[in-house]
Amino acid sequence: MNTEEIIKNGQQYVMNTYGRLPMALVRGEGVYVWDADGNKYLDFVAGLAVNSLGHCHPAVVEAIREQAGTLMHVSNIYWIEPQVRLAESLVKNSALDKVFFCNSGAEANEGAIKLARKYARKYLGNDKYEIITMEKSFHGRTLAAITATAQPKYQKDLDPLPGGFKYVPFNDIAALQEAVSLHTCAIMMEPVQGEGGVNVADYEYMQKVKQLCDERGLLLIFDEVQCGLARTGKLFAYEHYGIEPDIMTLAKAIAGGFPMGALLAKDKVADCFQPGDHASTFGGNPLAAAAAYAAVSLLADKEFLASTVEKASYFQAKLNDLKKKYSFVTDVRGKGLILGLGITADGIKIVESCRAKGLLINCVGSNVLRFLPPLIISFEDIDNAVKILDEAMGESR
Ligand SMILES: *Cc1c(COP(=O)(O)O)cnc(C)c1O
Repeated sequence: MNTEEIIKNGQQYVMNTYGRLPMALVRGEGVYVWDADGNKYLDFVAGLAVNSLGHCHPAVVEAIREQAGTLMHVSNIYWIEPQVRLAESLVKNSALDKVFFCNSGAEANEGAIKLARKYARKYLGNDKYEIITMEKSFHGRTLAAITATAQPKYQKDLDPLPGGFKYVPFNDIAALQEAVSLHTCAIMMEPVQGEGGVNVADYEYMQKVKQLCDERGLLLIFDEVQCGLARTGKLFAYEHYGIEPDIMTLAKAIAGGFPMGALLAKDKVADCFQPGDHASTFGGNPLAAAAAYAAVSLLADKEFLASTVEKASYFQAKLNDLKKKYSFVTDVRGKGLILGLGITADGIKIVESCRAKGLLINCVGSNVLRFLPPLIISFEDIDNAVKILDEAMGESR
């Protein structure tokens, strides 16, 4: 099918939940993707932080090929070696002790909410159930995850929503302290908000959040679905703050492009799930686990992380140059290679112009250009992207 046919059939047969761009991508390799008409693009969207290792990374492809021909799926009523190996790797590379595997970020957060409630019932008493989350957060699309997501536009017409959630502004410790009630059991947040506009939690704020949790016996839940797994230059974003969450969720980049989610917790918290309390048919199945083991091994590599940091500062410096050049740029934000340009110009127009010139970026809201390049990009790829971006921004002056 050519692009026109794909779009026509897509509109007829696929539910209309995405505002899709009029293009169909058919192949990817490294930092590049190709559309159905044969056009090549430098991909600074990277599946929205999924393709951190680029497209079709050979180690991930090989792990999937090998596992697909050996054992693709068995139920979690049996032990699964690739899953156990992956869990060990995640635990040894993090401050958490045990892992539950699922298939998406929303599902991981759903599990985190259930686990926090189980912990609260066991250790804090019957009247502790409330979870405080942050304005501009994004936690996924299941009913509980979208309720945790403090953005009214995503919750419209879905009521009644599950109870027990309360929202506060991000990076506002006074509001958070004020919001904690006798019913609160957990604080849930992204250390770097992705969907909400690439907002980084302040270092000082984070120290106080942790202190508040300790003082009031609250669980700290970090949603690292987007900012985790090397995206910020450290394997996990919490490492920037010198503190540890009680629960952490992962997904997006975890299996190199294959769907998977994970819920990690400290032992005392994890033990609140007993056999029968939580499950997922496909969670941690052999194929996904083999892909993820290959991906996590690469992402956790010290030299890989160091090279990511170098490329991130190079890219950040280039974005700061663009800020100096264009008065409509308000700020450069983000950490590592999850970066944003706050602008007062029309972001969608810039995204479109970049796409016409062979660079894929996206826009959160209409005034933040978001960059989530594969972490394997080269300095030259950054130069090429910035050149295109500069040209596109020049048209908006
Ligand atoms: C993408 C995202 C989710 C949802 O993940 P899905 O796999 O789409 O369910 C949750 N939290 C954050 C921070 C995300 O960026």
